[in-house]
Amino acid sequence: MSGVDGRVIIVTGAGGGLGREYALLLAANGARVVVNDLGGARDGSGSGSEMADKVVAEIREAGGEAVANYDSVATAEGAAAIVATALDAFGAVHGVVSNAGILRDVSYAKMTDAQWDAVIQVHLYGGYNITRALWPHFREQRYGRIVVITSTSGLFGNFGQSNYGAAKMGLVGLINTLSIEGAKYDITANAIAPIAATRMTADIASADLLAKLSTAFVAPVVTQLMTDECTDTGSVLVLGGGLVQRVQLFQNAGVQFEQPPTLAEVADRWAEITDMSAAVPAKNPLH
Ligand code: NAD
Repeated sequence: MSGVDGRVIIVTGAGGGLGREYALLLAANGARVVVNDLGGARDGSGSGSEMADKVVAEIREAGGEAVANYDSVATAEGAAAIVATALDAFGAVHGVVSNAGILRDVSYAKMTDAQWDAVIQVHLYGGYNITRALWPHFREQRYGRIVVITSTSGLFGNFGQSNYGAAKMGLVGLINTLSIEGAKYDITANAIAPIAATRMTADIASADLLAKLSTAFVAPVVTQLMTDECTDTGSVLVLGGGLVQRVQLFQNAGVQFEQPPTLAEVADRWAEITDMSAAVPAKNPLH
């Protein structure tokens, strides 16, 4: 196979926004797509079949293949049902874009446990539930393509998004290990941090800026990561408005103490310890 032609790809949260764009482009390139969406509001309240159905209809009208699913990624049962939809309709699953998401923005001082839990449940558990349900299939068929959606709010932080940022960085931690464990099975796992005009960003950026951030700029990169030919794994890409960048951790040369240092010795070398001016791409010191 080449590209995504004939591949069965699940896109979670594909009833609107970026997920819809991924589903449309994957289908236009020959993928058979499971359009999952719970069909609720931006904060995750409510549900319905209309959003996913509409995207499936769009794909079919354009001559593509798609099937709808309305289960929540927030539970293991929901994720299992999404995978079952794919297997029933197409007999296999080759890839997943773990995209479903909600927002409960609030400053840390005011955040309730319920606001923390709801966001972690959809984003972090959502990514966990769907990849966990797919992992045995991917291993058995010795092929899988995983893209999780992280965020600059996780990579860099953002006021009012401690719950969201923690969940989004959790997903980066997840793909870091899935990329290692999946390597010998041709399973890749990558993350993207999109920046695009959707209902999620409608009130946090100016109309002028949003006009430059079409979701159409993001979908080709997701499609590239889902292709047979793309074997990159463990990468994080930040993209929006036409700019596509890879980000990664950097580290400096550091300071080596031969004996456990005193507090004064640490303080003495602190400027050297924290200076990143000559930093290079970071490597796991345990490997
Ligand atoms: P969106 O609200 O349009 O899309 C999210 C979709 O997920 C919705 O259609 C929603 O119904 C669905 N969903 C929510 N909870 C679900 C659940 N439990 N199960 C299944 N579906 C569920 O917003 P978007 O901007 O398109 O966001 C898509 C993804 O991109 C999210 O993960 C978001 O965090 C991420 N993201 C977006 C931006 C951006 O600039 N728009 C930036 C960084 C990250």
